[in-house]
Amino acid sequence: MGEFALIEEIRRRCSVPRADVLLGIGDDAALLLPRGGNELAVSMDTLVSGMHFPHATDAFDIGWKALAVNLSDLAAMGAEPAWATLALTLPDLDTDWLAGFCDGYAALAREHSVALVGGDTTRGPLTVTLTVHGFVPAGQALRRDGARAGDYVLVSGVTGEAAAGLTCVLGVLPRSPDETDRAHLLGRLNRPVPRVALGLALRGLASAAIDVSDGLHQDLGHIAARSGLAATIRTDRLPPSAALSRVGDGAQRLRWQLTGGDDYELCCAVPPDRVADAQAAAAALGIALTVIGHFEAGGGVRVVDAAGAAVELPRGGWEHFSA
Ligand code: ADP
Ligand code: MG
Repeated sequence: MGEFALIEEIRRRCSVPRADVLLGIGDDAALLLPRGGNELAVSMDTLVSGMHFPHATDAFDIGWKALAVNLSDLAAMGAEPAWATLALTLPDLDTDWLAGFCDGYAALAREHSVALVGGDTTRGPLTVTLTVHGFVPAGQALRRDGARAGDYVLVSGVTGEAAAGLTCVLGVLPRSPDETDRAHLLGRLNRPVPRVALGLALRGLASAAIDVSDGLHQDLGHIAARSGLAATIRTDRLPPSAALSRVGDGAQRLRWQLTGGDDYELCCAVPPDRVADAQAAAAALGIALTVIGHFEAGGGVRVVDAAGAAVELPRGGWEHFSA
């Protein structure tokens, strides 16, 4: 299979019809119809083999996750996904790998009606870069800089399970999980579910939002910094995970929940009088949205226990190029 057969295979396996795609894969550029009255939200994420996923990761999971992490960014903006472009760097032309990758990508793309409208294909160490485009009605995006003093900090679902899943892959879990927990934790690592519907539901309710990709503590810090505020997290309010409590002790659990990466949950700021509405909107989607702290004047992120005593964090979240 040469480069053009490969592109044709991607086009065939990943196709999702959309009326706003006038011209998709196959020309020098795609022709797309922007939506009137909307802003275009654009985001790009790269996954590098051995860095963002272990080399042995299943091709289906890589395809799924490449799109999931990008849709998670649109979710965090309150944007509705529409289009994607894919830059694929492959060490060789492995048709089975490509089929698996496309099927994983397409499974999630169909769920969210995302059309793959173009890309680029090159040879080199396995690297997947996706750009996603989505719409948000003018002025309604959930930005990082909108939190106000007095807002609560809320987080969707449960954090820490993907990090425990990675620990599981690396074979260094303090207590070995049973098959059910193992499958659950690996699922959280390899098949994250982007909170797209929740992001849309939070428009008009949340004053700021971010998706949790590098650890809750660090990502909440981005909202705090951009909003010019301090944030406090109460450890006793963190959403509990039965699987986590079976595979790790208290300190390890806290480390996963606060600094583990790859959660792809939404963390948001919500004014006190909107919390009940936000939680009801999340509940209607079958998603827990838990109050874990608050914002106030100042800077930085404090972690405290139920009594208000400071809790020491072992280390910060994930950062490239850090020593
Ligand atoms: P050019 O040489 O003009 O850049 P390419 O041969 O790279 O054209 O691409 C031909 C067509 O295939 C273009 O429409 C491009 O967007 C699309 N394409 C190339 N690689 C990919 C890919 N990995 N995924 C999706 N579309 C791709
Ligand atoms: Mg090209």
